[in-house]
Amino acid sequence: MKHLIILGDGMSDHKVARLGGKTLLEYASTPAFDRFASEGRSGMLHTIPSGLHPGSEVANATILGYDLTEVYEGRGPLEAASMGYEMTADDMAMRCNILTLTSDGLIQNHHGGHLTTDEGRDIIKMLDGRLGSDRVKFLPGVQYRHLLVIKGGDKRIVTTPPHDNPGKEWRNLLVRPIDENDTALPGKMSPRETADLINSLILRSQELLAAHPLNKRHEEQGRPVANSIWPWSQGYRPSMLTLQQMYPDVRTGAVITAVDLINGIGHYAGLRSVHVEGATGLVDTNYEGKCLAALEALRTDDFVFLHIEAADEAGHDGDLELKIRAIEYLDRRVVGPIMRELSMWDEPVAVALLPDHPTPVEERVHRAEPVPFTIWHKGIEPDDVLAYSEAACAKGSYGTLHLMEFMHEFMKIK
Ligand SMILES: [Zn+2]
Repeated sequence: MKHLIILGDGMSDHKVARLGGKTLLEYASTPAFDRFASEGRSGMLHTIPSGLHPGSEVANATILGYDLTEVYEGRGPLEAASMGYEMTADDMAMRCNILTLTSDGLIQNHHGGHLTTDEGRDIIKMLDGRLGSDRVKFLPGVQYRHLLVIKGGDKRIVTTPPHDNPGKEWRNLLVRPIDENDTALPGKMSPRETADLINSLILRSQELLAAHPLNKRHEEQGRPVANSIWPWSQGYRPSMLTLQQMYPDVRTGAVITAVDLINGIGHYAGLRSVHVEGATGLVDTNYEGKCLAALEALRTDDFVFLHIEAADEAGHDGDLELKIRAIEYLDRRVVGPIMRELSMWDEPVAVALLPDHPTPVEERVHRAEPVPFTIWHKGIEPDDVLAYSEAACAKGSYGTLHLMEFMHEFMKIK
């Protein structure tokens, strides 16, 4: 038996008054989801370990069977993997935003005036040339999202996500040790030395960026200037077993996603990353291309993780119509065609459909609430669930599963 997970990022939701008290999954026209649920077995799944934030990286890695309380190392190491940077045991990697600070000392935004990838890369290359050393390395990523690697850095420091803190005084949010009494481990800087180094990089980046020609252009165009770096979400190389190591039936696997963090998880999970032309992470994404890529991968691989971001983005935008459309596109352009195709295959494939977390349109943030899931394969004995929705799946035969239980149940299907 091969295995395919179809993940609609953020697609579950709350009841919405404008939809007559229905959730979006209940309201949207989803004949393929409903057929999938009525021919499969359903349940609810808690995807966020207590104490961790409901981030997509946390939820997706949990769904893949990882105990995040053991292996979570922040976004930095996942993004390093997605950029093709192989971390060594000595490295501490951090997400490094380029952002805008106001002249009176506040965080104005987390994106430096929506930098293009070329603009962001120019800045990061300049910073690496001026501030890079044997210890400090800046690596270019996408738009305003880059990577800072510190050799011998100690992760026992407090860093702050800038997108959660617009309007706050940045000096109060500089890096500090979790505990001033923590001393240096063998071969590493102490947490205090690590914090001081990062803070000095932040201050020196501000001096260098104040004079950068790009910011003159931004000022002329009336765009916010990109006048500081902001490193956060630090961690070491994750000690994750690959899926091949955890599940011997998985000889090879693939991940299909437009999102860097998910590609990073896939890298550590031992999945090859399949690039799909026109995969954007938005509702204009190439659904047919992703669907074909998943079917193509299933011809050679034992395990495929197909991640579709669009519903989450629409949820963050608070755009009800767009999120409904994202759900209907996933139904019509992915789940329907995949079910039709796999029904005709001799090779049996177990398919799971689920979101990673709700991103309710009326709240516009991730919630750590259980999500509905359905598992289907040819010949499965269906339960009584007839539609794919939060309320319907809650009555499914799997009941409510917790964290890694989902992957264990899914991979049990032989
Ligand atoms: Zn997500």
